[in-house]
Amino acid sequence: SDFLAQTDSAVADLIYQELQRQRDHLELIASENFTSPAVLAAQGSVLTNKYAEGLPSKRYYGGCEFVDRIEEIAIDRAKALFSAAHANVQPHSGAQANFAVFLALLKPGDTIMGMDLSHGGHLTHGSPVNVSGKWFNVHHYGVSQATEQLDFDHIRDLALKHRPKLLICGYSAYPRIIDFAAFRAIADEVGAYLLADIAHIAGLVATGHHPNPIPFCDVVTTTTHKTLRGPRGGLILTRDADLGKQLDKAVFPGSQGGPLEHAIAGKAVAFGEALKPDFKTYCKNVIANAQAMAAQLQARGFKIVSDGTDNHLMLVDLRSIGMTGKIADGLVSTVNITANKNTVPFDPESPFVTSGLRLGSAAMTTRGMGTAEFTEIANIIADRLLNPDDETTTEACLKRVAALCDRFPLYPHLGTQVPT
Ligand code: PLP
Repeated sequence: SDFLAQTDSAVADLIYQELQRQRDHLELIASENFTSPAVLAAQGSVLTNKYAEGLPSKRYYGGCEFVDRIEEIAIDRAKALFSAAHANVQPHSGAQANFAVFLALLKPGDTIMGMDLSHGGHLTHGSPVNVSGKWFNVHHYGVSQATEQLDFDHIRDLALKHRPKLLICGYSAYPRIIDFAAFRAIADEVGAYLLADIAHIAGLVATGHHPNPIPFCDVVTTTTHKTLRGPRGGLILTRDADLGKQLDKAVFPGSQGGPLEHAIAGKAVAFGEALKPDFKTYCKNVIANAQAMAAQLQARGFKIVSDGTDNHLMLVDLRSIGMTGKIADGLVSTVNITANKNTVPFDPESPFVTSGLRLGSAAMTTRGMGTAEFTEIANIIADRLLNPDDETTTEACLKRVAALCDRFPLYPHLGTQVPT
């Protein structure tokens, strides 16, 4: 805005450059999306000034009458979206939401079981560098080497052997449907709590394009900024209201201070958008687009982990073309495509090098692209990766990316003037 440009031209200019970067790159990072202008407005509002420790109508500060109502709207919409009995909209992020679950349900030294990071799990599911791996006794399960999908016999065997107090499902790089009922059966057999972390697929769950974990899981956590298309943040849901109250205490005062009411307003707006019919169509398109991109990459000779996708993301296994994820990531970035290197199951390379490239369809579907455009995107990626040293191909790919970006403008209301 003008205010920002006048006060601090250095920051204003960098924000403008970031806007232009988002506009002229193909954003294929599976965990990113573009929020609506309404969500941006709520986040950049005067709510950023307000302290509101506690919950609506039970605050430790005065002057909360309006933020109370906003937070209540966010809670009610979250419950409606996921058919949950209880929602806490205060976690600052997905990691904070998971930390609150651990604080509510576990003691240091307890056993937890989640998916191995290198098979698609998240850092907060027991990685040794995260508090979940430092404070708990962790056993990881992985996908089957043959199918590259969840293997419930293997998960059950491990659960019977290690008897976790908490079993975690939900992933950062798993392209297939998760069978929550099968996880519930295993959790019941060993007396474990079951947590579903649906950070990636929340939008698909909310619109019925992926089964809902709420009927099967004690706690559901999610981020609000991936397929759900809200502001950056976390959310905790339960099917049981009493357990929900325990989780409320684990968020505040257990692990956070004052909630970010401007972010909560952004969540309220995004949840309202997600309840509308348009968002259901959007999520249907997200999956169709991911499937079109995966199919075209396969047609061009690439191997896709588990042979395809049921959701918004896919993992390209680059071992078949003798390339690492690190090199592929660098190559696509030279033609203004943003993605990320990612381990594939049983990856022989380190997490810094990897053998995979993770691609997602959520962000470019928000810009309005359909299956024809995603087929073109797959062809651009294939042309670039299969001709790593060819300058002519690089030039042509850059033009094709620019043509796609021009046809599907991003945030036109923000204009094209460099702030002065
Ligand atoms: N859980 C899963 C499955 C994720 O993929 C992520 C983020 O990528 C998180 C949790 C953490 O979310 P945040 O980055 O908001 O802390």
